[in-house]
Amino acid sequence: MFNDHSSGRLQPLVSGTGPLAEPPQDSTRLYPAKRSRAPFRWYEQMLELLSPERVPCFICLQRFAARSQQHGIPEGLPSSWANGICRSCSGTMPWIRKIKCFVCGRPEVCGDCCRRTGASFIRSRSAVSYTPEMRGLLARYKYRGEERLLPWLAVMLLPAFTALSDELSLGDGLHSVRRGSVPVFDLITSVPVSAERLQERGFNQAERLAASLSVRVGLVSRPLLIRNGERGKMSGKSRRDRLRSAADLFSPAPEASGILSIIASRSEANRRPLRLLLIDDIYTTGGTLDSCARALQLASPVPVDIFGLTWARA
Ligand SMILES: [Zn+2]
Ligand SMILES: [Zn+2]
Repeated sequence: MFNDHSSGRLQPLVSGTGPLAEPPQDSTRLYPAKRSRAPFRWYEQMLELLSPERVPCFICLQRFAARSQQHGIPEGLPSSWANGICRSCSGTMPWIRKIKCFVCGRPEVCGDCCRRTGASFIRSRSAVSYTPEMRGLLARYKYRGEERLLPWLAVMLLPAFTALSDELSLGDGLHSVRRGSVPVFDLITSVPVSAERLQERGFNQAERLAASLSVRVGLVSRPLLIRNGERGKMSGKSRRDRLRSAADLFSPAPEASGILSIIASRSEANRRPLRLLLIDDIYTTGGTLDSCARALQLASPVPVDIFGLTWARA
């Protein structure tokens, strides 16, 4: 059930994942514009030479002249991402660049992490703040079936992934090694959705983000948890109630222990605990991440350190 990683590309083995629409790794564009197969007339060729190609922005859908625009793009994002977003949308992306809370990666002063005692994850980082615009973008993917957005959204995890990897490399004293040459994490996994939600939506957005990210960073991604139903509506509930209802919501998948044993036996991580990166789409209170991390800690036959990475931070 385990793919060897030597090919560099992994096929998701889990039902419900479905084929991932990954763009070619070496392409310079994530979303190539359609070209007519009919032979161009001379003036059409001239026009193409003179004016830059116009492509639709994946956020506002307006066509814009594709050009390399690296200004203001966080480190770690491929240029192909920047070439698919118009200048206006690019300029208003709420990237989390400076964090104030070292635990949850919040860009503002954080009271939550001081109050939480004995969190099961070590730290978590997020790509963007969950603004109304980002909520709308995620909803297009999650609820309105715009599955072509997946590569764009998954790539957005890269700057936070790179920053977190760098933090841990520094802690390990690995920073003198060529950057990116030592895998900081042993395995990527994701927050599960319930069977009813999976049937309703057809996919688990967190699992797909994890699978897409894992291909890009050359790591293995495996679901390790099961979600025992859904929480009730969270809006209107107090933080304390949210945290309580998140507890006991997750249990380990039957194969989780075996997968972790295999990874531990063949990785060079014998000298330190296994490092798992847990992916979710949104971090709100940290209750979901904490519950998942606790279930993973209980399931693991070897010591594990769990880190979180989410697409947005509410
Ligand atoms: Zn735009
Ligand atoms: Zn915090």
